[in-house]
Amino acid sequence: FGFIKAQEYGERGHTVLLGDFVSAEDGTGIVHTAIAFGEDDFRLGAQYGLNVVNPVELDGTYDERIGPYAGRFVKDADDDLVEDLKARGRILKATKELHSYPHCWRSGNALIYYAKPAWYIATTKLRDELVAANQALDWHPEHIKDGRMGDWLSNNVDWALSRERYWGTPLPVWRCEEGHTHVIGSFDELEELSGVRLEDPHRPFVDEVGFPCPQCNQRMQRVPEVIDVWFDSGCMPFAQEHAPFENEDRFQAHFPADFICEGIDQTRGWFYSMLAVGTLLFGRASYEHVVCLGLLFDDHGRKMSKSLGNIVAPWDVIQRHGADAFRWYYFTSKQPWDGYRFSMDTICESVRLFLRQLWNVHAFLDRYESDGPHGGETDLDRWIKSRLAATVAEVTERMEAYDATFAGRAVADFVDDLSNWYVRRSRRRFWEGDPSAFATLRECMLTVAQLLAPFTPFVADEIWEDLGGDGDSVHLTDWPAAGERDLELETAMGIARETVRLGLAARGQAKVKVRQPLHEAVVVASGAERAAIERLGDVIASELNVKRLRFVAEADELGSYEIKPNYRTLGPRFGRAMPQVAAAVAGLDPAHVSSAARNNEAVRISVDGSDHALAPEDLLLSMQPLEGYQLEREGSHAVALELTLDEDLVREGLAREVVHAIQGARKDAGLDVSDRIALGLAGDEELLAAARAHEEYVTGEVLATSVDYGSANGQEARIEGRPLHISVTRV
Ligand SMILES: [Zn+2]
Repeated sequence: FGFIKAQEYGERGHTVLLGDFVSAEDGTGIVHTAIAFGEDDFRLGAQYGLNVVNPVELDGTYDERIGPYAGRFVKDADDDLVEDLKARGRILKATKELHSYPHCWRSGNALIYYAKPAWYIATTKLRDELVAANQALDWHPEHIKDGRMGDWLSNNVDWALSRERYWGTPLPVWRCEEGHTHVIGSFDELEELSGVRLEDPHRPFVDEVGFPCPQCNQRMQRVPEVIDVWFDSGCMPFAQEHAPFENEDRFQAHFPADFICEGIDQTRGWFYSMLAVGTLLFGRASYEHVVCLGLLFDDHGRKMSKSLGNIVAPWDVIQRHGADAFRWYYFTSKQPWDGYRFSMDTICESVRLFLRQLWNVHAFLDRYESDGPHGGETDLDRWIKSRLAATVAEVTERMEAYDATFAGRAVADFVDDLSNWYVRRSRRRFWEGDPSAFATLRECMLTVAQLLAPFTPFVADEIWEDLGGDGDSVHLTDWPAAGERDLELETAMGIARETVRLGLAARGQAKVKVRQPLHEAVVVASGAERAAIERLGDVIASELNVKRLRFVAEADELGSYEIKPNYRTLGPRFGRAMPQVAAAVAGLDPAHVSSAARNNEAVRISVDGSDHALAPEDLLLSMQPLEGYQLEREGSHAVALELTLDEDLVREGLAREVVHAIQGARKDAGLDVSDRIALGLAGDEELLAAARAHEEYVTGEVLATSVDYGSANGQEARIEGRPLHISVTRV
């Protein structure tokens, strides 16, 4: 076509150019390029110094330069253009190819790439300042600073500021016919020049305001463009105060913001606009700390979409589990930037593990009255207060480091200690109404409510109100200060709990119920460990349900070693003399061999009058637990339980089973935990004998004011296959 002469493009018009965006994978490796109609095309034109020639009008029709096609919509003219080329013998082959092409997301119409002049901010001139402003920020996660954000800034491109839309902040640029421009800096300035005070600064009103050009005196009109809304978002810190025109002090007091939080994709959005506008105007970002949020997927890691049907509606989650469970899940299941695999069930897990436990402890405090005698502060009280102090310190430190995840988990760990150790080991004190136990638990729960206030605001306030915390709301209280810690006691309790864990594991191995009392637990401990366990001996013995603790210094004392020769190493060495070697090994002192093995020393034996050294690997050492004991060991810790039962222990075990059955009957009868009862028992003689022998214990546990043997018409329970009839009557 000769519509536009080659020289109008410049020297390289209508020639072949090299472009690295063209692949030879398919087609000829040669493509047609039109520099006004594509990003790659435009860049190529700029690279070769071509002029931008655009013969298409804004309505998508050819302009008068395209002769017979002028006024026709470009897409409609395609077929005629092909015919035209064919007729003039300028085309070898014309076919249709399927390829991707941009379309309007609303109308579905095909779009045309179209190079147009626009207004830019030359941010590339401030690249170093932008990079430096980013370096001063505290990013969470940290790698965003030099990764995603750092890359984006060091490859900064000028900010395309203008938008051709109707709604938006009008670009405050006025221009005259001569092309002089004037940028308006305030309503006052505009009024001064035009005599018009704008009541509404938006289009169309602002477009009607003109004034004489300061240079040529021709009338100036505003350019039609509005400003990119991302620029508005970056102006938020001062624009919301209308600073510097008013409220300058308020703006200064709040600038820069301590903290912003948005999706991780906002490095090119709000994180950037706040950094760029801040740097342009104030030489720094408008914020100091950033927390990025990851994306939300379904529980298989797939994007949530209508077509997959895997969308979980937030309102359904809130309806079913509550807003606080929802929040707790987000805070504690992951670091927020790691993204989530989300389903209704994952929330269930979060509720089950933490909120229910919290609520149970709270209900426990509600259930009993602190009307008993003062028992005084115990080691358990001192321990849980020390743990509380540690938790307050840790949560505070983590929150100050913008780490809600580990802060929340620290609260969860504390509530677990509170529930599974403090309350569990203090139940009797609560039943007996010991005010010191109540005071300790109340103090813990009030502080937990304060720590939880930012995480689960509704639950926290409910607990605070229930417990009669000061003031109208937990949200109006000061953040708690960490109290004193007792590190020695915390360590001791750690050792005690480890001892219990091993002891319970031994019970599990031996399949002996915890309700069955045992004579003794033998614990391997010496020095400070032994002192710690002895200090908390009552707690350990009652949790393990043993009559006493006994200590041994070495694990060797919990069993007997058996020594055998290792035929694999000794066989080749001694050959025919192996029977004599085996006999000599059998005669070795096990304690000596085990100590030699620990110290990696040789053991000497004598065979047929000559001396031989045996290395530790030549001897196979195995430990047989003591007869009648069940041993559990882990590292240097070991606990053995004596399993032998005498008649008294059996009877006491049965009495505990009876109590357990009566508690079940109380529950089935719908009694309140504090209701007193008249108790009737009948059935198996041995069970009744056990209950009689431990009557004080049984009646105390089940709050019975009287017990009648042999006359029960209530429900039947079975204990180890034996029948027990239980009647409970509220008195
Ligand atoms: Zn002018």
